[in-house]
Amino acid sequence: MKDNPNSTPGLNRRQFVKTGSGLLAMSSFPVVPDLPARPAAPPVAGPIVEGFPPAQLVGRPAPEGLKPGLPTAERVGFAIVGLGSYATGYIMPNLANTKNAKLTALVSGNQEKRDTLAAAYGIGNDHLYDYDTFDTIADDEAVDVVYIITPNVFHRALVERAFAAGKHVLCEKPMAITEADCQAMIDAGNRAGRKLMIGYRAQFDPYNVKAIELIRDGRIGEPSTVVADHGHLLPLDVPKNQWRAKQEVAGGGSLYDIGIYNVNGARYLLGEEPTAVRAKYHRGSGNPEVTVEEEIEWQMYFPSGVIANCSSSYLTTNNKRIHVQGDKGELTLDPATNYYLRALHVTDRSQEHHRLEEIQIPESNQFVPMLEEMAACVREDREPKTPGAEGLRDVKIMEAIYRAAESGEEVSIG
Ligand code: NAD
Repeated sequence: MKDNPNSTPGLNRRQFVKTGSGLLAMSSFPVVPDLPARPAAPPVAGPIVEGFPPAQLVGRPAPEGLKPGLPTAERVGFAIVGLGSYATGYIMPNLANTKNAKLTALVSGNQEKRDTLAAAYGIGNDHLYDYDTFDTIADDEAVDVVYIITPNVFHRALVERAFAAGKHVLCEKPMAITEADCQAMIDAGNRAGRKLMIGYRAQFDPYNVKAIELIRDGRIGEPSTVVADHGHLLPLDVPKNQWRAKQEVAGGGSLYDIGIYNVNGARYLLGEEPTAVRAKYHRGSGNPEVTVEEEIEWQMYFPSGVIANCSSSYLTTNNKRIHVQGDKGELTLDPATNYYLRALHVTDRSQEHHRLEEIQIPESNQFVPMLEEMAACVREDREPKTPGAEGLRDVKIMEAIYRAAESGEEVSIG
């Protein structure tokens, strides 16, 4: 830029104004008096233009993916039980993005939080419950599905109460604490003649679905090993971590919270069930506030001969990786189970020049297809893709992993 001949040599405009000479120059400008306010212009009708708006401005159909979906009255109504970080941050906002579901009721022990959210989501007082009045949800015709998103240890009792109220149930992972709890929940659903689905969002995630498809199509050949690790730190000043640190509320530690993604992921990526496990408790912080296991490593043995080496940890930074090695290539989901950002790479090692391919999927919301599946199952009277039996299977495997860690022995899974 050329220097302004009137400015101080070597200074640009901003520097000039900042200097004393700039301020002096500005202070000698004439002061402009305030102008009297002008009266508002009267509203005038615009001139009528023949042929405007032009005939082609007719409003085209909504782009694919923005279709509004079913009319409100035909959508399946969801009550949310437990208004914590996952419910309010991911599930409630995404219900509004579905084509066949709607948020119709809230259940919380905290009246202030519940009422604030009810106002924000336009839910009337007739559809607000606490844990004492929850059972009266039976009379709420706006509610078809009850979605349980409380700490793990409360899942079983709340699911049973929802079934007793005649509602269908979507329940967060881990389904419950023991295999016997899970079986009781499945039995309650069968007795009530209602659907039970577990919120395994990753099974509805386009990246994970694509990974399954690639493995089934033989892109990596015969799988031989899986390496799956999930970890995050557990700072106890964050409310959602406080119950996670307590065995009596969480029912298990990093394994039940995030290690479950390794168990479930290895099962759906391989399409087979482990028959035995070995495990070892790893490090602990020594913090007496934490009464769950913080770090555990385990192996799962599959009938095909595949071995899955897994870990879960509350002592590492965010780590959500699942890697499958085959005899032609390998596939890596990293991050595998993030809420929004995921990445999928496939390496073909059957050629002399290894080819790494990054699979990109533009539309990758996993919450919407999961919620739509629950609503569709209710409308079409069919079993969910991730039913209670799927939740029970993981809990059974995780119980075996704990037994293996405690005994140091290989534990078989019946
Ligand atoms: P959170 O602590 O943020 O929310 C839990 C909610 O339960 C809070 O509103 C809390 O007030 C309520 N609550 C009721 N009784 C309670 C009690 N006695 N102690 C503590 N809280 C109580 O936890 P979150 O992260 O939202 O997890 C809730 C459930 O959702 C858990 O089962 C968790 O495993 C599951 N979850 C699943 C995913 C997923 O990706 N599928 C992600 C996060 C959480």
